Amino acid sequence: MEFKTIIEPFRIHSVAPIQMTTEADRKRYIEAVGYNLFSLQSDNVLIDLLTDSGTGAMSRNQWAAIQHGDESYAGSPSWELFRNAVQNLFPFKHVIPTHQGRAAEKILFTAVGGKGKFIPNNTHFDTTRANVEYSGAEAFDLVIAEGRDAANLHPFKGNMDVVALEKFILEKGVENIPVVMMTITNNSGGGQPVSLENLRAVSAICKKYQLPLFLDACRFAENAWFIREREPGQQDRDVADIVREIASLADGMTMSAKKDPLGNIGGWLALNDDDLASVCRNLLILTEGFPTYGGLAGRDLEALAVGLTEIVSHDYLKYRIQSTAYLGNALLAGGIPVVQPIGGHAVYIDAKALLPHIPALEYPGQALAIELYKVGGIRGCEIGTVMFGRKPDGSEVPSAMELVRLAIPRRTYTQSHIDYVIEVCLAVKEKASKLRGYRIVQEPAALRHFTATFEPI
Ligand SMILES: *Cc1c(COP(=O)(O)O)cnc(C)c1O
Repeated sequence: MEFKTIIEPFRIHSVAPIQMTTEADRKRYIEAVGYNLFSLQSDNVLIDLLTDSGTGAMSRNQWAAIQHGDESYAGSPSWELFRNAVQNLFPFKHVIPTHQGRAAEKILFTAVGGKGKFIPNNTHFDTTRANVEYSGAEAFDLVIAEGRDAANLHPFKGNMDVVALEKFILEKGVENIPVVMMTITNNSGGGQPVSLENLRAVSAICKKYQLPLFLDACRFAENAWFIREREPGQQDRDVADIVREIASLADGMTMSAKKDPLGNIGGWLALNDDDLASVCRNLLILTEGFPTYGGLAGRDLEALAVGLTEIVSHDYLKYRIQSTAYLGNALLAGGIPVVQPIGGHAVYIDAKALLPHIPALEYPGQALAIELYKVGGIRGCEIGTVMFGRKPDGSEVPSAMELVRLAIPRRTYTQSHIDYVIEVCLAVKEKASKLRGYRIVQEPAALRHFTATFEPI
């Protein structure tokens, strides 16, 4: 028999306490930090859905592997285990370990970016865009039109618009495009997957113009699971096999091991090109470390090697994708607009639709995220005009979508935690028309969402 309750495919082995707070406490805490959820002490958060990055629970085998870590400066066996685990799924010739994903981005775009260069992606993640722009290059998002429409039910809303990509290449000139990126799953676009068919088409265009294709592969396993579930002809494949096919279509990747590799820290850059790899390794030595450990300890490399075997488990992925959908579908059923279909690692509430009375430049996503914290101690993350609205020329432009992301840490919260989140969201929905916008009191030059301070209007 099939039962409707999704059980977590693990038992709890070690616990971390949650410190209880009241609504009155939380109003004080959030005001004291200038209404920036990133500035809260995490002890003052009940359910922390700020990010799924590095916040997951490691397995007992990963903790055991930590004890096995070899901290030799060069040529550690922990490095070999890590490299083999990466190449088992992504058989790129060179693997360059970094302390997290953005370090891999910084190295790649320092090597290939710069003024006069243009870098297309389905949707650049915020650190990716910031690293492209910091190098002097320009970042462009070419996701399909369905991917910008929160209510559209397209099964692969992360797909690249291949017609737009080819036009972009011809307009900007092949010589000015050092790399084409594909983010799987498309985090900023709602955690939406990319189809194999689309990856094959993008790969073919890249080959036609001899452009390297790089994956921003943070959630490769979730993406591969969606391919297995949704793409015709893929239903009987092993997820690891789908991942290897995805890798075969690309020339390299940047990676945050804080996502699907089930690590609390880590990342890598991998690629086939020998010359570019040598430039990147030299940059790695400048800022991260020797090429056999990068920014990581031997014990981290060991934990990631184990995580990479656990993440492609079908039992895990089935639970992961279904449990995220459980939250999203419950919000939908309660009349809260969310990005559909429900993505892999997060549920994205459409704050523009829920708070139509708050203009974009008064940050409806921020207003909603603050209210979820005050009412229920839930910490989500605005993905909208606060995150993307400030342009490199200093102007402020409303983002295409105003979302609040509730990201689900891997193997961390139980169904009763999620049932509580659902109740809190429904309570906030009831008072939606009374919520007001915010103005920014001060902000830094780049990536303002991390440190800006706000006040209610
Ligand atoms: C998290 C993430 C990154 C950056 O990785 P960090 O480990 O946070 O530096 C890049 N791209 C995507 C799609 C991500 O989700």
